Amino acid sequence: MPVYEYKCRKCGKVFEKFLRSLAAASTVKCEKCGSSKVEKLVSCCAISSGGKGRDTGSSSSSSSCGTCSGGTCSTCH
Ligand SMILES: [Zn+2]
Repeated sequence: MPVYEYKCRKCGKVFEKFLRSLAAASTVKCEKCGSSKVEKLVSCCAISSGGKGRDTGSSSSSSSCGTCSGGTCSTCH
């Protein structure tokens, strides 16, 4: 089930959002203040591999890295 973590750039609130489609990702708003200035928290190692900043770039492996299969290894966090 595709549940993504988002962080509000305005108030810093971190929340999880269930997205049924990629189109829904562009309409995510902060649960706390309602700001649309939210940033998707890329799971696992995509951050270290240069994935940060590309909002629509994550296509294939978004939940695992090279050393584990579930985003639970020490490299992931
Ligand atoms: Zn907020």
